[in-house]
Amino acid sequence: MAGRFAPTPTAALHLGNLRTAVGAWLAARSAQLAFRLRIEDLDQARVQAAPGLARAQIDDLARLGLDFDGPVLYQSARQAAYQRALERIEHLTYECFCSRREIAAAAQAPHQDGAAYPGWCRDLSPSQRRRLRQTRRPALRVRADQARIDFQDLVAGPRSGSVDDFVVRRGDGVFAYHFAVVVDDAAQSVSQVVRGDDLLDSTPRQIWLGRQLGLPQPVYAHLPLVLDGQGDRLAKRDRAVGLDALTAAGFSPARLVSILAASLGVAVPGPECALADLVGRFDLTGTPRQPWRADPATW
Ligand code: GLU
Repeated sequence: MAGRFAPTPTAALHLGNLRTAVGAWLAARSAQLAFRLRIEDLDQARVQAAPGLARAQIDDLARLGLDFDGPVLYQSARQAAYQRALERIEHLTYECFCSRREIAAAAQAPHQDGAAYPGWCRDLSPSQRRRLRQTRRPALRVRADQARIDFQDLVAGPRSGSVDDFVVRRGDGVFAYHFAVVVDDAAQSVSQVVRGDDLLDSTPRQIWLGRQLGLPQPVYAHLPLVLDGQGDRLAKRDRAVGLDALTAAGFSPARLVSILAASLGVAVPGPECALADLVGRFDLTGTPRQPWRADPATW
């Protein structure tokens, strides 16, 4: 059984990502779980546009004192495993020819999920599909029938949501984020998912998919957002709140560990501390439920 951190290497980790990583690591280690790292590099076009970020992310995590068990899993190397999993739920899928723009987003973690898919391609006749295939490569969606999923989030509390017909594989063959996450969490024996609450609304889809695949359901804990000094959501482009900029501004990794852990409700022993010394002091269910406003100018 394990916890995990699963960054997407399309931008450097910012304070919000680092805080999630610290929370996920502390939660796993405090529960004596293994901790896994997964690089979510499904969307190779975007990943290759900014090479070297996975390495930089791994280095940042090491500088904060996070360690990982087992090999780093790269989603880009998992095509065969995803294909095998897809075959198990083939009876639930249908081809979708809707706009490329809508489907293009599928490989990225949906930090704000859009509207539910209205089902345009759900009931196409075989001849309609044949005709559409001549001009477009179809994505695959699952027939989820608006299934209702209830779950208990360790931080956000009881939640429920209905599941729309989401994309599991894009027309270009790239598997969708929701699909890969579920297959990989199971492959990495992940029993505890701690991540940002921008993925809270996606969780019913993932739970539903895990059930269709017959996989064990992890426990979820979604950490509230991190805001900047102005109260705006941290953006990926916010270099000022990356580890390099913060250390250049004089914050040691031990200082940042103390600040991040304190923001998660940990009674930190001092203004600087080692992550390993905080194991056992962290209680996920005591994590503040409000967004954390991170303003280095005030530290
Ligand atoms: N790769 C996603 C991200 O960077 C996280 C996915 C997850 O934790 O399930 O936001």
